[in-house]
Amino acid sequence: MVEKGQPLQLFVSCINQGRHNVQSKLQRAVARGLVTRSTSCSVNDKNCAGVIHGHHEDYSKPFEVIWLCRFHHKERHRKKD
Ligand SMILES: [Zn+2]
Ligand SMILES: [Zn+2]
Repeated sequence: MVEKGQPLQLFVSCINQGRHNVQSKLQRAVARGLVTRSTSCSVNDKNCAGVIHGHHEDYSKPFEVIWLCRFHHKERHRKKD
């Protein structure tokens, strides 16, 4: 569950990968309305926790985003390692 009524912070995206550039590109795109920021996790199960992050499968496509809660974002990266 994502807490309702809580304003989303600036979202995080894959910063552990050292790709800060992708995150700032995405944040600009959201600010311009080019990308719609989701308010719910795309996995959406009982483990969901934390704010929604933008996750990139492919860093060369900064606007292709998978929205995941903090828990599932961490999990996604853990599976890749
Ligand atoms: Zn989740
Ligand atoms: Zn990620």
